Order: sequence, then structure tokens, then C-alpha cells
Amino acid sequence: MNDTSLTPMMQQYRELKARDPDALLLFRMGDFYEMFGEDAERAASLLGLALTTRDKDKGADAVPMAGFPHPALESYLAKIVQAGLRAAVCEQLEDPRFAKGLVKRDVVRVVTPGTLTDEELLDPKTSNYLAAVVEAGGKLGLAWVELSTGRFSLTGVLRTELIDELARINPAEVLISELSLDAPWVRLLRGQPIGAITVRPSWDFQPDQARQTLYQQFRTTTLAGFGVDDRNLEVQAAGALAAYLRETQKSALGHITRLVPYRRAETLALDEMTRRSLELVRTLREGKRDGSLLSVVDRTVTPMGARLLAEWLTAPLTSPAAIAERLDAVDELLTQSILRGDLRTMLSQSYDLERLAARVGTGRATPRDLVALARTLALLPKVKARLTARVSQRLNQLEAALELCPEIRAEIEAALVDDPPLAIKEGGLIRDGYHPELDELRSHAHSGKSWIAKFQAEQVRKTGIPSLKVGYNKVFGYYIEITHAQANARGANIPKDYIRKQTVKNAERYITPELKEYEEKVTQAEARAHELEYELYCTLRDRVSAEAPRLIQAGAVLAQLDVLTALAELAARHSYCRPELVAEPIFEVEAGRHPVLDALMSPGDFVPNDVRLGPDGGTILVITGPNMAGKSTYIRQVALIAVLAQIGSFVPARRARIGMVDRLFARVGATDELSRGQSTFMVEMTETANILHNATPRSLVILDEIGRGTSTFDGISLAWAITEHIHDALGCRTLFATHYHELVELEKTKPRLRNANVAVRESEGEIVFLHQIVPGGADQSYGIHVARLAGVPAPVLERAREILKFLEKQHGPDPGLPAPAGPIPRKVKTGRALTGSLFAALPDPLVTELQQVDPASLTPEQAIDLIKRLRTLAG
Ligand code: ADP
Ligand code: MG
Repeated sequence: MNDTSLTPMMQQYRELKARDPDALLLFRMGDFYEMFGEDAERAASLLGLALTTRDKDKGADAVPMAGFPHPALESYLAKIVQAGLRAAVCEQLEDPRFAKGLVKRDVVRVVTPGTLTDEELLDPKTSNYLAAVVEAGGKLGLAWVELSTGRFSLTGVLRTELIDELARINPAEVLISELSLDAPWVRLLRGQPIGAITVRPSWDFQPDQARQTLYQQFRTTTLAGFGVDDRNLEVQAAGALAAYLRETQKSALGHITRLVPYRRAETLALDEMTRRSLELVRTLREGKRDGSLLSVVDRTVTPMGARLLAEWLTAPLTSPAAIAERLDAVDELLTQSILRGDLRTMLSQSYDLERLAARVGTGRATPRDLVALARTLALLPKVKARLTARVSQRLNQLEAALELCPEIRAEIEAALVDDPPLAIKEGGLIRDGYHPELDELRSHAHSGKSWIAKFQAEQVRKTGIPSLKVGYNKVFGYYIEITHAQANARGANIPKDYIRKQTVKNAERYITPELKEYEEKVTQAEARAHELEYELYCTLRDRVSAEAPRLIQAGAVLAQLDVLTALAELAARHSYCRPELVAEPIFEVEAGRHPVLDALMSPGDFVPNDVRLGPDGGTILVITGPNMAGKSTYIRQVALIAVLAQIGSFVPARRARIGMVDRLFARVGATDELSRGQSTFMVEMTETANILHNATPRSLVILDEIGRGTSTFDGISLAWAITEHIHDALGCRTLFATHYHELVELEKTKPRLRNANVAVRESEGEIVFLHQIVPGGADQSYGIHVARLAGVPAPVLERAREILKFLEKQHGPDPGLPAPAGPIPRKVKTGRALTGSLFAALPDPLVTELQQVDPASLTPEQAIDLIKRLRTLAG
């Protein structure tokens, strides 16, 4: 098909489509949004739309087409962005009824996964970031922005850190330059579940261009005011973000007013594996919020608070002063329970101020948004009043930072009705008394009633038909209705100037020039009133829009207040204690609990445990014990308590003294995490290697069944060597849960290593896990012991003991067990005996029996007996 054969409308479509070929173009045609060609085919399967063609007679040449009615736009946009695609929404820019020739159309916005602002498309409790990555000279620059709240951050990263940082930010969309397409880190990104990748022109990323875009956005001539060096690589990423937002939003971005440099040194480093293993914001297997640490500690009452808490949890602090500031505030809100209750009540009445402000800033606020905004602003004076004269510094700062924006509220309240309609062009938005001209137009339209009554009375008189009525419908406007019966009645007289318009079941409908003239006036007044209302509304929206930065700030204050109050509420509900954060690398917790299990179990059912790590208590704890004893729970609880303490939360314990952790590593052995595509053991070892390279003496390491993903002897050897290395070379606080009992031997040669196990009680043939961590290694024969209690038949148990004994004899003492003379040499014995089937190496029972025979001492009877026994053994 060549272009000359296209209809003008299809040409218009082609032109718009060519501007952004990767986006699905939703082309408005009357009451529908239509897609054509490949777009239609993609959309049909993605959105479950019927695929048709526009011109059926063209056969194979016909253009595929798919569409949906316009009110369904938001729900289809949601599906499109969820699939990681972008959509360009093209509207008709003029009313087709009045258009001369082809209706003017243009793309009014581009909706992409990372640039959402609509309430319907966003999860209220989750941040929705757009990120950009740029590379130069082996370094990477990273920037991320949330259009729906205006937050904008940037940092430089190493290649090895990129995935972890992106996973923390969890962007919905990542921008890269067209020049980076083949870079190794881009290939790495594509393998990660971190949102859609959008390729952008390299121009946007160029240093000069990027800086200019940012200067324009922030109306500055340097970024120094934000604490950002203009020459930094990440500035290029930030510039590319700003350019993309401009292009997709086609609106002002008044709410994006500052850059916040992200300083990794000020946050507790949590790599992606650790975040996942600890289930901080999502569960490991199902990826759900429910069951994560976030879900149980989240007592926030606003969506902005919920989002901020999630961010705190993925980036805990390392500065004692900053943590203390939060803790002081939580402390005060905990003791002041009335204040806490009041604040929570007020906060729960507020709308999502951050996102409202962002919709205001992008010029996309609806009348309902503005009313919600005014209602939220109405709460602020009360909130501010409750915050005055507080003890803690943070609460005072929040009080000072809380902008009331009274004039914005006053303007909205004066202009808009309490409960405005959804449609913005059909009137009913503006209050009576707000604007004189509008009031007059409205009274014209409304005075209609009395005019009609007068007109009707006149017509009754003229025609002599008492039941004559003036009616109204949408199609014909005003009309005079006379039933057939009356028209034919004696004395009835239908005037000549009556024009018959419509015949209905038992009546005729007429119009007169006078009636139509009147109608015209009313309709015009109404149309003008609607227009004026829309203008007034737009003016109001623009005025409010100019204040977006102040609103954003107020939103940020409410978000913080909500989180701090929520943490106080959490501490009150679950009897958390205030942790003491110290400099020495210790970890001393009395009666600590696992925050998630504790919250999910009935009160009092969770068994608390102490932890004592540090120079006197030992820095490495090896916890052995059978499955289901509570090993994993115990070591995770230590990690979670550290995270909570460093976000400034109280912790589930009676007492806690914690040495500031700089990096937290948690690793779960392969079999505890099923179902990953790659070789799980490989992953496990790569992840462990990462710890061995990056842990510092201030780090905290949690190892759960590491070494499980391979054969027993390999596993033990690796677990052993890793533990040794941590002890000898790293010296960081470490908890290692393992069912490799062999590791308990390490305590004999490693001075800073301690053993612990989980207490078990046997009662009436049943084993009871007490979930209590006690010093010392676990009972070695425990596995077979448990098997007996579980009802495994005696001969099998007997045989299992034989095999166990044999294995011990066969392989000598465990590789690496301390020899009597001291620590074993580093050369670990491996090889032949450790591979292959264990059972293949077992001797034949016949042979064993024969080997035990001393022919010289046998009597003939014994010999006969022996032969009989051997015969039965042979089967
Ligand atoms: P392990 O790692 O030793 O196999 P887990 O830590 O997974 O054992 O614990 C198994 C189950 O035991 C948990 O799901 C929980 O129900 C229970 N449990 C563990 N620790 C405790 C505790 N301290 N108090 C109460 N129940 C516990
Ligand atoms: Mg476990």
C-alpha cells in the first residue's frame, strides 16, 4: 500500500505514529480509541480486543484494527503499562461537528510504566520510579525520579553495584541511551525483573544537553545548590530523565524542584539477595507484600506514609545522629499516647497529598483532586498545632517545615462546589456567588422555568386546549405537545405558526419560532456558562499548580509524621524496646523476637531468645540442630532487629544494644530457595563469594544452610572453609545456621567462634521443639533419633546406624577435624572416596560375614550353620 492510496485520516494516523513508533498509538475516533496495523495485532492479544479490519473489501491488504470505547481508557492504559509498554494517547482537538474537513488530532500525553500520575494506574502503597543509567569511562551514573511525587535522586555506581541499587529503587521503567544497547550491563539488566527498558536518543544523555535540561527544569545555572557536582556522570542520567518527562507529559513539571544526591555511605548496604532473603518488602517465594517485614510493621494510615516506610526499610541509616533523631521522635510519640492517637486520626483523614500535588504540578488535577487537596489542607493547622513545643528535634523540624498553604485552600474552597462532578466541561463545578458573570448566565438559564410557564399559559389560551404542555427532550429541545384527542376536540385551534416536529403515540409535538428563539438563548447561556466554568477552573488549577512545590513539601512532612507515628504505634502494640546504638561491633539482645512470626502468632506463643555477639561473646555463632527447630527464625530475627534499629524503629526485644552495622548480608542455601532457573549452587557460591569480598569488620552476616546445594562432602568442606575465612580474615559478626553437625568441631580451634543449638524435649515418645537457643553443638545422632520417633521401622534404623559407622570409618574423621596435635593442615582431603554413590562403596554383607570367620576355630557344626546363614544372606 503506498501513501497516496491512504485516506487523509490514515495519513494523519501514519504521521502521528511515526513520531514514536514504539508506543501503542491510541487514536481517538468519535467515542472510540482505535489502533491499526501491528499496534492492533499487539493490542488484540494483550488487551483481549477483537481484531477487525477497517476496509473489508481490500482482502489481504486490509489494515487490522482494534479499539475500545473511550470511557475504558484508564483500565486499558493500566494493562498496557503493566505489560511494560507505552501508549500515546491521541485526542480529537476539535469537535467533529464543527470541524472543516479532517478533524485535528494530536498526542496529548504518553503514558509509560515509569511516568504514571493517575490514581487509577498507581498502587497507592508503592513508589513508582523512572530510572536512567548512563555509562562513560567504565563508570555508571544512575538517576531516578518519581513523577507522581516529584522525588528526584541521583548517584554514581560501580558496575557491580548497579543491579543492587536498581533492585532497591525498583523502577517501573529504565531509560538507556541508544549507544549503550550492546553494553554488557544492559544485557545484565535485561535478565533482571526491574521494569521495562526504554531506549532513548543519545543526545539526551550528552553532558551539555543534560545539564541544560536540568538548569531549565530547576531554573538554576548550576546544580551546586543541591550538593551535586555538575560534571558528575549521574547528571547525564538525570538530564535524560527530565527530557523524557517533558516529552511524555507535555506539561509543566512544576512540582519537580530539587535533586537529592543519594549517598550510599549514609545507608546500611543491603544487596538484592539480602533484601530478598530477609523478605523485607516482599516474600521470597511468592513476591507478595503480605508476610514481609514491611507488612507487619506497617501501621501507617496514609499511602504516602506507607511508601516512605517501604523506602526506609530498604535503605536503613548508618549515622548514629540521624537514627537517634528518628528514635527520639518515635519515643516521644510512644509515651504521648494521646498525641499519637490525635495525629493518627488527623492523618487518616488526609488524602495522598504528595500525589495530589504532583497531579497539580503536571496540570492534570481534576476538580475532585482540588477538593481533596483543600480538605487535606484544612487538616494542616490542627496537625501543626499538635506538633508545637515538642521535645524531640525531629518533631519540631516537621512542625516548622509544615506549610499550611492557607490561600490555596481558601481559593479552592471559594471556587469549587463541595462535591464536583467528574466531567470538567459540563458545568456544575463552580460555586454560586464566585463569579458575577457566571451567576448571571446561570440565572438566564434557570429563569427559564417561569418563562416556560408563562409561554405555556399563553398557548393554552391561544389554542383553547387546557392540557397543552411544553416539554423538553435532548433531541428536539423544547416542544409543545398536544394529544390527538384534544387536537380533534371541538373548539381546538392549532395556530398556523405551529410547526409539526414529531408524532408520538397519542400526540403531536410542535415548535414555534418564539420557542426556538428562547431555546437558543437558554442553550447559549448554558454553553457559555459551562465554558466560563471551565475557564475559571483552569485558572484556579494553574494558580494552585504554581504552588506545587509547597504542597509537595507539606506532603513530605505528613509522610514522615505518619511513619514516625506508625512506628510508635507498632512499638506500643507489640511491646518493642528502644535499641541502644553503639560504635563497638557488638550485638546484644535480650528476649529478642522475630518481628513477623511474633506478629502472626498468638501473643505469647513465640519463644524469645537472647543473642550475644561481640568481643566477649564470640563474633561467630554456629547454630546446629534438626529441621524445624527454629534455626532460620533465630538468625533472621537478628538481621531484622538490626534493620529495624537502623531505620529508627524500636525493636522486638526486652533490651537491645547494637553496634552500628555498615553492611548486612543474608544468604540462604540453595535448597531453601527452590525454583530459580540457573544452577542454584552456582548462585549460592557467587553470592557467598560476594560476602567474602565485601564484608567489613562492622558487617553482619547471616548464613542459612550455605553449602547445601552440592554433595554433602563438598558442602561441608565449603561451609567449613567459608566459616574459617570469616573468622580469620573478616572478623565480622556472623550467624551460621547449618545442619552440618561437623561444623561444631570448629569451636575447638577458633577462639571467636561459639556453638549453639536448639533445645528439644522428648515427652511420651514425641519430640517437642522448644525453639530455645542454648550453647553447645547439637546431638549428633539426632537425625536417626528423630527418624525413630517418627516411626521408621527398627531394622531400617539399625541399618542406618551401620551405614553411619561405616561412613565414618571409611572416610576417617571428618575432613578438617582437629587432629590431636592442633588445627588441621589446610590441605583438605578430597577425591575418590567423596564422590560416587555412597552405597556402591558399602561392602556386601556376605563378604563382611566371611571376613569375620576364623576357619581354624570352626567346629563342623558351626561350619554347617555358617553355610546355612550365608545361604540365607545370599537370598
Ligand atoms: P529450621 O531453620 O531450624 O528448620 P525454622 O526457623 O524454619 O526451623 O522454624 C520452623 C518453625 O518453627 C517456624 O515456622 C515456626 O513456626 C516455629 N518457630 C521457630 N522459632 C520459633 C520460636 N522462637 N518460637 C515459636 N515458634 C518458632
Ligand atoms: Mg531453616
